[in-house]
Amino acid sequence: MTDTLRYDGRVAIVTGAGGGLGRAHALMLASRGARVLVNDLGSSAAGAGTDTGPAAKVVEEIRAAGGEAVANTDSVIDGSKLVEAALDHFGQIDIIVNNAGFLRDVGFHKMTEQDWSDLYDVHLLGAFRIVHAAWPRLRDQSYGRIINTSSAAGIYGNFGQVNYGTFKLALHGFSQALAVEGRARNIHVNSIAPAADSRLTRTVMTPEQLAPMRAELVSPLVGWLTHETCAETGSLFEVGGGWVSKLRWQRTRGERIGDGKDFAPEQVRDAWPAIVDFEGAEAPADFAAGMAPFQKIMEGA
Ligand code: NAD
Repeated sequence: MTDTLRYDGRVAIVTGAGGGLGRAHALMLASRGARVLVNDLGSSAAGAGTDTGPAAKVVEEIRAAGGEAVANTDSVIDGSKLVEAALDHFGQIDIIVNNAGFLRDVGFHKMTEQDWSDLYDVHLLGAFRIVHAAWPRLRDQSYGRIINTSSAAGIYGNFGQVNYGTFKLALHGFSQALAVEGRARNIHVNSIAPAADSRLTRTVMTPEQLAPMRAELVSPLVGWLTHETCAETGSLFEVGGGWVSKLRWQRTRGERIGDGKDFAPEQVRDAWPAIVDFEGAEAPADFAAGMAPFQKIMEGA
């Protein structure tokens, strides 16, 4: 390590920072000079109730270590209140870490519309409302660093997590599209899919399994991605236990079937081995690259 990455003069909002991953992110950013709005509603792992204690405690920890922070106990669903609070206390916003969330795991056949909409509200609507309220300022100051917290449950799909997985992957869609709009204004937006010891994972894994997965082993990636010298944007990373990896979309070379006027399901069946063969696959890096095969067809190639 040559130099120290610092956030002096920067203001960060970290949501759900009263415990688990959010707490670790807030402590890390504050220890390196950021002023932090420590947001946490203080609800249970299933999203019930409120408690002002967790956010206040993390603020105490940050101050005891010589850092600057203020507690906020609004729900992320009232996103603009968090943005107003950061502006009231610190006068600016540079970094947003959308991390708050909870689980309502249940088989899809038993899932209620409430299980669906509560998860939508906290994960996707909350992130949207915070970023939407802050966006004009980020654009005006031509600076912003945003992290959206996704999940392996969204990337790969997991039993009992149709609600959670849907909105977690949608958060990466949010990152990708925001990254396109933010690029020219130096607003970088990335997603992380963490794996860490927290009250959410303690219900499904043993203390022994989780011992090497401290939340603090996720925060350094948040630190790098939210630093002013980091150019990465629109990307998705898996991170946990000190392991960090980047994901991307991959596409098979594909097959042109038929004469361009018509083709039948039988031809799709017959071309199937080629359609699904990842030998020689490509990884389109942006929308234009993604659209390239259709562009070629439209140009008559
Ligand atoms: P956690 O329960 O310790 O932390 C989540 C925090 O969010 C809690 O302190 C909770 O009070 C807060 N919160 C809940 N609803 C809120 C609301 N409406 N407004 C403000 N705060 C609210 O769990 P964690 O594991 O640290 O989870 C952090 C994020 O990481 C979540 O989005 C979670 O889905 C995601 N995640 C965690 C893991 C993991 O392995 N721990 C894996 C994938 C994704």
